[in-house]
Amino acid sequence: MKVIAGVDVGNSTTEVCISKIDNNGKFQFISSGISKTTGIKGTEDNVKGISAALNNALDKTNIRISDIDSIRINEAAPVIGDTAMETITETIITESTMIGHNPSTPGGEGLGLGITININDMNKADMNKDYVVIIPQSLDYEDASEKINLALKNKIKIKAAIVQKDEAVLICNRINTVIPIVDEIKYIEKIPLDKFAAVEVAKSGHTIKVLSNPYGIATIFNLNSEETKRVIPIAKSLIGIRSAIVIKTPEGEVQEKVIPSGKLLIKANNSTEKVDVDSGAEAIMSLVNRIEEIEDISGEAATNVGGMISSVKNTMAELTNENILDIKIKDILAIDTFFPKKVVGGLAEETFMENAVAVAAMVKTKKLPMDRIASKLSALTNIDVQVAGVEAVMATLGAFTTPGTKLPLAILDIGGGSTDAAVLHEDGLIKSIHLAGAGEMVTMIINSELGLSDRSIAEDIKKYPIAKVESLFHIKMENDEIKFFQEPLEARFFGRIVILKNNEMLPIYKDVNLEKIISVRKSAKERVFVQNSLRALKQIAPMNNLRNIPNVVLVGGSALDFEIPEMILSQLSKYKIVSGRGNIRSVEGPRNAVATGLVMSYVGN
Ligand code: ADP
Ligand code: MG
Repeated sequence: MKVIAGVDVGNSTTEVCISKIDNNGKFQFISSGISKTTGIKGTEDNVKGISAALNNALDKTNIRISDIDSIRINEAAPVIGDTAMETITETIITESTMIGHNPSTPGGEGLGLGITININDMNKADMNKDYVVIIPQSLDYEDASEKINLALKNKIKIKAAIVQKDEAVLICNRINTVIPIVDEIKYIEKIPLDKFAAVEVAKSGHTIKVLSNPYGIATIFNLNSEETKRVIPIAKSLIGIRSAIVIKTPEGEVQEKVIPSGKLLIKANNSTEKVDVDSGAEAIMSLVNRIEEIEDISGEAATNVGGMISSVKNTMAELTNENILDIKIKDILAIDTFFPKKVVGGLAEETFMENAVAVAAMVKTKKLPMDRIASKLSALTNIDVQVAGVEAVMATLGAFTTPGTKLPLAILDIGGGSTDAAVLHEDGLIKSIHLAGAGEMVTMIINSELGLSDRSIAEDIKKYPIAKVESLFHIKMENDEIKFFQEPLEARFFGRIVILKNNEMLPIYKDVNLEKIISVRKSAKERVFVQNSLRALKQIAPMNNLRNIPNVVLVGGSALDFEIPEMILSQLSKYKIVSGRGNIRSVEGPRNAVATGLVMSYVGN
């Protein structure tokens, strides 16, 4: 009888399977373990994570590490992935100054137009003009209200006010007229004086209508069609908010600069094919999918996409310690997305949602030196360590222990950086591939489309359902179920969207509603996983026909997802393919496929 340990070092996770094997080759699986991968996959730093995963498995048994006869580690595929995103439209910087933000409590309502004037200069005001008064921090609401009332008495026409402190409502309640008042303007000193400005505040519960419409801005400022085109980013950044200010500055005060989006260059068969990034992800992917074997992908110099691709290659070169010229991108997954971009000329750090393309890239590196890891691990543990078997083959072997599967069997191993697929035929033949794009890309898209700027919240939104805290005694879950509590919830949860992470509630401190979060989350998963599953399976299916694959087992960390397996099933069932989350050895769920396969391969076939 022997005790064998299988060890799978992934980009994100290291997994272990421990089994006894008797002299007839019969397995008795004993335990499994898991730990975060330490260091870049394929480097000696991995040994720490391997030890942790081994200990995690052994802790659940009465076996000691010295009882293990042999450790088998995977021959890791020499591919690593990275993700990036860039705007696809040209970057246009406008000549207007604008403020669009959502102070929780603006004052008054309506649209007010006039010339900007500092409230301390009201004595110089002209009775024949309309004014927008600027109230800096130094003046408190009582003095400000008094000055406004005095000016009104002197027949000065005040149409709107802009306030630095959070005092719009206080001022609104003290003045003898109803005007829109926007407050919490951080950079109030940057507002140009003696310029024509528009201030809009929507009714409570509504959003602004005039300044979020390019033609609305054009009407107010008397713009021609060329100028109207340039205010589109301004109008876009003001959609869906309650208050905004737009000020026309003289031409030339804010510089205009155009950076083209650029072309993606795909090298294959001694020729280079080009595709405009402007034409969107679909056009890019149809070219990528048409090319059988990509040699390398680059971006046109001095363009947005050029910058993005070289930054991916740079990161990879640094990680692998290779020359950037040796870094070749073998596959990409492009997805249409949008992300918040800072508006130049903005005064309260305004952003607008710009169309963008997100790209996951797969880079082939030199063969990963797993033998070095093996000898280091062997020295550390005093156990025989073998590098055994190709990852995809091992994953398929392990996946085959899922009840209800039969040959030919395909697997989709959906991890963090890549989606790997393999098919195992009755005759033992295996075909496998690695494609760019998996769990990390979904997290990146959720992070940017919701404007979170917080990767770990985005990761939790991806993994767990959400709910709205409607009172301190009940929450409404995303499936409309109501859950009641005996004890009141903490006050900080009230009115918030929360992530239901195991037994915890994580509040999302961001102005996004429940429906938006769910739709971004689902569509990010659809765009990445559904597309990649089809792409992967088409390439490995016999005669490239999906109908030749009877069943697909989903393994890897992303197969744990609470909605991805259903999404993939509903796509694949169109081709009469049965697919579902794997259940390795009937107990592990989608985890541990490679580690299990490594143990099984100890007895040959
Ligand atoms: P690798 O094989 O590359 O080490 P894994 O198979 O461990 O990668 O998968 C890592 C990915 O799985 C990450 O993107 C992570 O967000 C995702 N993941 C892990 N657990 C879950 C979960 N419960 N739901 C959705 N995704 C998950
Ligand atoms: Mg893996």
